[in-house]
Amino acid sequence: MTNKLNVLSDSALMAADTAHHLHPFTDYKALAAEGSRVIVRAEGCTLWDSQGNAILDGMAGLWCVNIGYGREELADVAARQMRELPYYNTFFKTTTRPATELATRLAELTPPGLEHVFFANSGSEANDTIVRMVRRYWQLHGQPERNVIISREYAYHGSTLVGASLGGMSAMHSQTGLPLPGFEHIRPPYYLRDGGNMTPQEFGVAAAQALEERILALGPERVAAFIAEPIQGAGGVIVPPDSYFPEIQRICREYGILLIADEVICGFGRTGNWFGSETFGIEPDLMTLAKGLSSGYLPISAVMVGDRVARTLIDEGGEFFHGFTYSGHPVACAVALENLRIMQDEGLVERVRDDIGPYFQDRLRELADHPLVGEVRGVGLIAGVELVRDKDGPVFFQPEGRVGTICRDHCFRNNVIMRAVRDGMVISPPLVISHAEVDRLVETARRCFDLTQADIG
Ligand code: PLP
Repeated sequence: MTNKLNVLSDSALMAADTAHHLHPFTDYKALAAEGSRVIVRAEGCTLWDSQGNAILDGMAGLWCVNIGYGREELADVAARQMRELPYYNTFFKTTTRPATELATRLAELTPPGLEHVFFANSGSEANDTIVRMVRRYWQLHGQPERNVIISREYAYHGSTLVGASLGGMSAMHSQTGLPLPGFEHIRPPYYLRDGGNMTPQEFGVAAAQALEERILALGPERVAAFIAEPIQGAGGVIVPPDSYFPEIQRICREYGILLIADEVICGFGRTGNWFGSETFGIEPDLMTLAKGLSSGYLPISAVMVGDRVARTLIDEGGEFFHGFTYSGHPVACAVALENLRIMQDEGLVERVRDDIGPYFQDRLRELADHPLVGEVRGVGLIAGVELVRDKDGPVFFQPEGRVGTICRDHCFRNNVIMRAVRDGMVISPPLVISHAEVDRLVETARRCFDLTQADIG
């Protein structure tokens, strides 16, 4: 029998896709009307579609292909590991060499005090794991009523029931009756929207104190943990003022609440340090890792467990009834190890901190003079450019999201991928992006802002 897919023409493939494939986060009616763009290969920061267009990937896939596409070394390692040991689990008291080596490497790389690792396959699963671990922790401390987790509006922590409950995306909540009980949300440190007459530093402290107010409203004896990304990525690249996390840290310590850093986007060099927690001076009790851990070449995620929680689980917990068939998958772990080796040998984190990160941020800030641009914000190789109706105020577009989508589509048609969040463009390219590629990205952005402005009149 011939493989039907190998002989499908491009248009037949698109028709088959519409007929059979329910895409994530996709408007199915629009997909049926327009079809999808078929990506066929990639190298460095460039994707090629089936029509032969070369597309600059300003999003590193979904914020994940940190070392860029087309790394033969990762393919070689995966093939070697598949031949030697394609699978074995890490349940009960078994391990594999790549799983233990990766756990050891992550304990070295992450900030001091995070010495234990629990593996999963996605950011969502890792955050689910954290919620179960946190509840177990308080149960072992004789405080099972401490089960509320506080997060932030606009946060994205995944798409499972728990991930979406942790997240603060009202559109996700409204479709499926979420959040589940036990998940609370406060406003994020979103200066452009909420800063008013405060300085950024005053605002950072005030935004953090929303956590204390919520803890006191709920009763501290009910609050288990607070979760935050160092920079809120999918929420629109919301960068906290420097004063925010020190105050968050103080509040968590004062009430004995566990602090969780979701480093799924910020981890592995994006902010110019290995972890966003280092950039913002956060000392988390638990840390979620995914995406850049393998640069997206294979699915893998990890929960870094700090000593406070690990000691309780190990010394007092007995069996923890939790895990996934593919926790610590040997091929994914081997690929992640090779990815980390490349990042280190090529000095990619230092490159983001000292060279390409500052260049990217400086060039993007040149866009601030465009009439549509209300703010350019970001650190390292993550940025958001918020589009507004009027810079004075600022006045935001109504209805929200329409202008961002127009701009995103112009970028797409001009072969640069950026993503729209509300009416902001977010950008998060591979850490290997060249200076010339940054120039092209910024120049295309300006052209697309002009086109967007012409469209909205
Ligand atoms: N946490 C953050 C901060 C994310 O950005 C994402 C995905 O974008 C997730 C968790 C969920 O990860 P996954 O899609 O691998 O489940």
